[in-house]
Amino acid sequence: MNNETSWKVEPSVMAQNTFNPIRAIVDGMKLKPNPEKPMIPLSIGDPTVFGNLPPPDSAVTGIQEAVVSGKFNGYAPSSGYQTSREAVARHLTKSGTTTAPEDVFLASGCSNALELAISVLVNPGENILIPRPGFSLYKTLCLSQGMEVKSYNCLPERMWEIDLNHLESLIDEKTRAIVVVNPSNPCGSNFPKNHVKNILAVASKHKIPLISDEIYAGMVFRPLEFTSCAALSDDVPILTCGGISKIFLVPGWRLGWVVMHDRNNVLGQKIRNALTCLTQRILGPCTLVQAILPKILEDSDNSYMDRAINIIQTNAEYAFSHIANMPGLQPVTPQAAFYMMVGISMKNFPEFKSEVEFTEALVSEQSVFCLPATCFDYPNYFRIVLTVPEEKLKEAMTRMEEFCKEHFVPCAA
Ligand SMILES: *Cc1c(COP(=O)(O)O)cnc(C)c1O
Repeated sequence: MNNETSWKVEPSVMAQNTFNPIRAIVDGMKLKPNPEKPMIPLSIGDPTVFGNLPPPDSAVTGIQEAVVSGKFNGYAPSSGYQTSREAVARHLTKSGTTTAPEDVFLASGCSNALELAISVLVNPGENILIPRPGFSLYKTLCLSQGMEVKSYNCLPERMWEIDLNHLESLIDEKTRAIVVVNPSNPCGSNFPKNHVKNILAVASKHKIPLISDEIYAGMVFRPLEFTSCAALSDDVPILTCGGISKIFLVPGWRLGWVVMHDRNNVLGQKIRNALTCLTQRILGPCTLVQAILPKILEDSDNSYMDRAINIIQTNAEYAFSHIANMPGLQPVTPQAAFYMMVGISMKNFPEFKSEVEFTEALVSEQSVFCLPATCFDYPNYFRIVLTVPEEKLKEAMTRMEEFCKEHFVPCAA
């Protein structure tokens, strides 16, 4: 018998069900930039690609010292070094959410934190509620594990606040968690305190825990303020997911955390033990980065964050004011994180069947790439990333305006 017929190796069902919609959509797009114009990607959610937003010095020197010391070459406990968990607890307590070190579980980036949080609460066949438009990873994680997702709407006319009636209407007897992202990727929104309270009220009424994705915690444009769900919760148990990827601009370092906020002991020792078991599957994030976590969280004074926020906010204001004046486009005021969503009045661009075609043509004619929001389950919008250097952003705005003027068709009255 030859090997080809006797061997039967198939990818697992889980692997076959793992699907990243952004890759599927972007890889299927016709992206041929105009050779006359250098490409300006406003599509990549990685703030390090342009080199204008370096990480804090303390992180750079700290990691060198950690390597040279030779002290961090072995395994850490699977939930993380105690000193690193303490540092996260102090950091969150200082930002207004009292947290104990034993409630902190370190993870390989916020992505892994989300995986832990979802996996610890939800079984195959049960469901969670996720935001639309929303970060695509929630769906990817759930569908690959046989869980179901139901998407609740966020409303552009209300700065992307959650449609709470819609959210509530989706809850059924198999709903195990509500995922909230604040500040939001892709929306660049920041929920006011009152809205956070109202979200908690829905969760409390139906006794459903929250998974709060706060990877952009504190990265909010002045004078707005960030409110962590856990800071306001009296009774709703919350698994807060966070990390250093975005706020300290080192997404490649893969360090995140999931934190249990469980004021009334609803999750209790059961969920704590279960989370500990789940961390044992991959034995925690890189020990070098864990080792310098106390230094990063404590030494990076506010001036570091302020500088980054300033650059992004200046870009956000520039891009918003320009796009607001382009025919056929409706930007939604960005308030936080690195993103702005822009609505396209498709009836004024009749030659394009969808926002995917619109963004493809923007690449082939003007070499500007914006991500079509179908990637976030939200057609007729595109997302732009605001971390690009100012000159590139200015050039991109000029080209985008030319593109809109060329293709805009006023509607017949
Ligand atoms: C980037 C991002 C993450 C993932 O963060 P990592 O720490 O890089 O894994 C999670 N949630 C949102 C909303 C993000 O934008």
